[in-house]
Amino acid sequence: MKKHFSTLLLVISGLSCLGFIQNNWLTNQQEGFSINHRKSEEQNIKEYIQLFKNGKEQVELFFKTPFSSTFNVYIHSTRTSLDSTWQKDWNIPGFKSQCWMVASGVASRLDILSPKKWDSLACEHSFANTTKTQRLLTHELVHVYHGQRNPSPDFSDVNGIDWFVEGLAVYASGQLDKDRLTRLNDFLSTNQPPSKLSDFWKGNNKYGLSGSMVKYIDIKYGRKKLIELLGFNQLEGLLKSLGTTENELIMEWRETLKSK
Ligand SMILES: [Zn+2]
Repeated sequence: MKKHFSTLLLVISGLSCLGFIQNNWLTNQQEGFSINHRKSEEQNIKEYIQLFKNGKEQVELFFKTPFSSTFNVYIHSTRTSLDSTWQKDWNIPGFKSQCWMVASGVASRLDILSPKKWDSLACEHSFANTTKTQRLLTHELVHVYHGQRNPSPDFSDVNGIDWFVEGLAVYASGQLDKDRLTRLNDFLSTNQPPSKLSDFWKGNNKYGLSGSMVKYIDIKYGRKKLIELLGFNQLEGLLKSLGTTENELIMEWRETLKSK
């Protein structure tokens, strides 16, 4: 029995360097995080680890300090596997994700549909678009970092700050690119911006609207203040910390966009 056990261990470590098995998940330990995956993902893991390492480094550079705790990455090989995790974590039995939904991040974990399967199991995403793929992973890592510094680590108890949570992830990951800003400016040349921050993370321009608002805060108030804002889960506290009001913030953000 003992011998069998050690043979098994050898087989497992042969399958995945530094890896071990938990509930059929193979775990690959990295510095600061673990990557959990099914055996069928073995050939992809090296590439995925590099993407997560890059993303982690980018996030830590942006916020100037490391992640405060370790976290787990789960690579889901099927949409059913991803959905069953979300059903459990979000307490929505029977939840079925839409095709564009490929990942989520909270303080302790990041769940992602195996990026190499996006072409067949998702829409709007392609693994081959390496820049966009890296930015998407980094976006989720920003959520993990944010969750580790927020009173609501899984963002279940936040009020009115969706635009900030998402805008920060968009901005810090590099998703606020030239294309998005051009589309936002085109939109604003013929449309009024939302009058409420709660409407910024809505509609076709949500990435541009929320991302550019967080960029505006970063430039006007500075990175130190932006980092302080990670600790707020209510809009009221966040605005108070900035010493502004919702109207004023939106008006000033709009003016800076015009002057470009
Ligand atoms: Zn997000």
